[in-house]
Amino acid sequence: MNLFIALLLICMTAKAQTGQQYPRLFFKYSWLFENICSPLSPPPRIWRQEAIAKEQKFQDLWEAAAPKLFKGLFERYPNRPFERKELTATLSVCPRLIPVGEPLILNVVHFLDSYTTDEGGRKRPPEAFTWMVFHELMHTWLRRYLKSSELVNGKYAAESDVVKDHLHLMALEIVLFEEAGLKDQQKWIEAFYPIAGGGNYHRAWDLVRKIGPKKILRELD
Ligand SMILES: [Zn+2]
Repeated sequence: MNLFIALLLICMTAKAQTGQQYPRLFFKYSWLFENICSPLSPPPRIWRQEAIAKEQKFQDLWEAAAPKLFKGLFERYPNRPFERKELTATLSVCPRLIPVGEPLILNVVHFLDSYTTDEGGRKRPPEAFTWMVFHELMHTWLRRYLKSSELVNGKYAAESDVVKDHLHLMALEIVLFEEAGLKDQQKWIEAFYPIAGGGNYHRAWDLVRKIGPKKILRELD
């Protein structure tokens, strides 16, 4: 085999592997969390109907954004794929529901016309949706690959769990969004973190800035 063909095969293999490093998602609405969220006054039917009607839209938004969001991650950490190849991304319209990574549950109420109009809220932009999905998947990824942290177990051990859970995640977001030129995502987290999470996100965000995201990420090398 000549050198050119060998190099071509290596490139093709790397490309094929890149496509398999994060799970394929299937966005599906579930009513389950609506009952738990507010048993006496479940969310109005129109919110549920809109979420179901927009399943494909959420799917398309994510599939368009995901390669750009993950590109830098697998360039930095080429041998650290996600464990799962496919996941259901459960959609909920419970306003109080906090999105989680495992199982992957997303609160989409802030992306519905019927909710933001009724509640007088401002609809969040599409990059806030794709950031939310990415953020939750990154919690899952970090649980797999961040085995220990001197920052979390040492100097910052007294911080809340939410703060400690977000140091490496926010550092990754800052570095990856910057390197990929994802300006909309950058703007979103800069506006969102200081006002969200009951003060915990703000604290984590301040600490990440103070310590320095690249210094934090050395713990993942
Ligand atoms: Zn989080």
